[in-house]
Amino acid sequence: MKDGLVVVAGGGGFIGGHLVADLRRQGYTNIRSVDIKPFDEWYQCLDGVENLQLDLMDKDNCMTACDGAQHVYQLAADMGGMGFIETHKAECMLTVLISTHMLMAAKDKNVDRFFYSSSACVYAADKQVNEDVVALKEEDAYPAMPEDGYGWEKLFTERMCRHFREDYGMKTRMARYHNVYGPLGTWEGGREKAPAAICRKVMEAKLSGKHEIEIWGDGLQTRSFMYIDDCLKGTQMFLHSDCTEALNLGSDELVTINGLVDIVEDIAGIKLERKYKLDAPKGVNGRNSDNDRIKEIHGWAPSITLRDGMERTYAWIYDEFVAKYGSKYGVTAKV
Ligand code: NAD
Repeated sequence: MKDGLVVVAGGGGFIGGHLVADLRRQGYTNIRSVDIKPFDEWYQCLDGVENLQLDLMDKDNCMTACDGAQHVYQLAADMGGMGFIETHKAECMLTVLISTHMLMAAKDKNVDRFFYSSSACVYAADKQVNEDVVALKEEDAYPAMPEDGYGWEKLFTERMCRHFREDYGMKTRMARYHNVYGPLGTWEGGREKAPAAICRKVMEAKLSGKHEIEIWGDGLQTRSFMYIDDCLKGTQMFLHSDCTEALNLGSDELVTINGLVDIVEDIAGIKLERKYKLDAPKGVNGRNSDNDRIKEIHGWAPSITLRDGMERTYAWIYDEFVAKYGSKYGVTAKV
């Protein structure tokens, strides 16, 4: 079944790029990757793949993207880390045009299976007020009080996927991703997330000799972070499964932001003075993934440790950092 057309919407992005690469590695022969960005801005623009630059807010473009497709992974979204989603709520919500038109096009084009990447941001804020978290279970998304802007779009699209399944018989599948990180993603510019931002800040401090780091919030906020390889495995597992629920897809290794900084400092072999920026966007106080349901249904859950994943991520960002800014600091060597 590896010759049916698989479409990855948002294939120029972090997760989409890895997904395309992974599908290719597994021997899928017919892959279409679609993104609005110019090709030279894609994290992975691979040979042997039909790469299309299209704005998927436009329904006609979604029809082109879905034409002939057997499976569609809908990952395209206007998003970023907390610094972006707390300050660009309208832009985040406009992603609803992409999701709506992709669903409509997939239905019209008789796509067999449709995967949608939802988020832990769908969960009710009042379940995430303490750092000392009770991990989020799938049913905690209702009564609805998701992350303003971005989270509402995610919850609405989950609901649309459900109704396209119930009303039109489409095989829609969903995952609620919890913080995904890894190489070949955004590490500067304002859309980067905490793991990449902390790697960059630690290397900047190390190479500049100014041994300080700015941390958003008080550093006590808790999170879990899923390495990209676990995300890819779960995403494909969900698409192929019969489970129609929106399940958590996240690590349950809880860490404070201070703990994440400890890990990166350890990888970099340095200790920094911490400056806390208390008025910076920091999101909810505590969030973790409850993995009971995914284990019950799939007999599997993400398991790559934060330490292992961060080592690989740090090494990649370091190379990027040195390639771009190395001359400023007089370095060329790898980590
Ligand atoms: P990303 O920003 O790297 O990738 C999204 C891609 O969508 C980008 O390349 C972007 O150019 C593309 N895009 C935006 N608008 C478009 C449009 N109008 N037409 C076509 N393409 C468009 O983000 P990512 O981290 O790879 O996330 C992929 C999906 O997973 C998103 O739906 C995101 O909301 C979801 N998600 C990600 C995380 C995470 O931690 N990375 C967590 C929860 C959910």
